[in-house]
Amino acid sequence: MKSVEGSPSKEEETPGRKGFHKSQVAAGARLMIQGLGLDLNDPNLIDTPRRVAKAYREFCAGLYNADGSLEAILGRKFPSNHDEMVFSGPIHSVGVCPHHLVPVEMSSFFAYIPTGQVVGLSKIPRFIKMLSARPVLQEDLAKEIADKFMEYVKPLGVALLVEARHGCMAHRGVHEQDTTVDTVAMRGVFREDVGMKEEFHHSVARRKRHSNGG
Ligand SMILES: [Zn+2]
Repeated sequence: MKSVEGSPSKEEETPGRKGFHKSQVAAGARLMIQGLGLDLNDPNLIDTPRRVAKAYREFCAGLYNADGSLEAILGRKFPSNHDEMVFSGPIHSVGVCPHHLVPVEMSSFFAYIPTGQVVGLSKIPRFIKMLSARPVLQEDLAKEIADKFMEYVKPLGVALLVEARHGCMAHRGVHEQDTTVDTVAMRGVFREDVGMKEEFHHSVARRKRHSNGG
C-alpha cells in the first residue's frame, strides 16, 4: 500500500506485519541518529531517515514477494540439447548480514548441467541477486541458491561458489579488510562426481585468471 509522505498508512504502522514498513525503518534510523548524539536538524541528516529506509528497501529487496519472483525468473525454460556444464560468473550481489545489518558484497560462480531445458542466461544473475538481497547467513544463502535452482529447473546438478566480503568483518570487530569468506554448495552430479567438481573449480580458476588480466 502506498502512503503519502509524512502520513504513513495504517497498514505501515502495524508492527509485525510482513512486508516493508518504510515509516518504521525511518523511525528506527531517526532513533539511531539521536542515539549517536547527533542533531536530527543538521542539514546533512535531516533527510537521512528517509534515505536509510530507501537504502534498506533496496538491500533487502529479495525479501518481498520472493516466491512469486522466483517463479517469474526461473519458471520460463527453453528446450535445449546442451547437456554439459553452463558456467557463469563472477556474479556480483549485495545483501546484509543478519547479525549487524551491515552490507555484504558477494561474488558468485554458478554452474549447472541442463537436462533438456535451459533458463535464459540473464536469469541466473537475477536469481542470485534476488536471493542475496536479504539479511541472510552466507552459509544458508549458498544452500538456498543451489536448492531453489534444483527445485525450479531440475538440472542434473548445480555447483556454486559464493565469495563474500562482510562489512562487519572489514570495518569493525577483527577489521579484516582483505578477508573473503567462501561457501560452496554442490548438488547432483557435482556432488557425486569428483571430475565434475574439478571441472567447476578449474572454470572458476580460469575465469579469475582472465579477470585479473592473466
Ligand atoms: Zn555481521
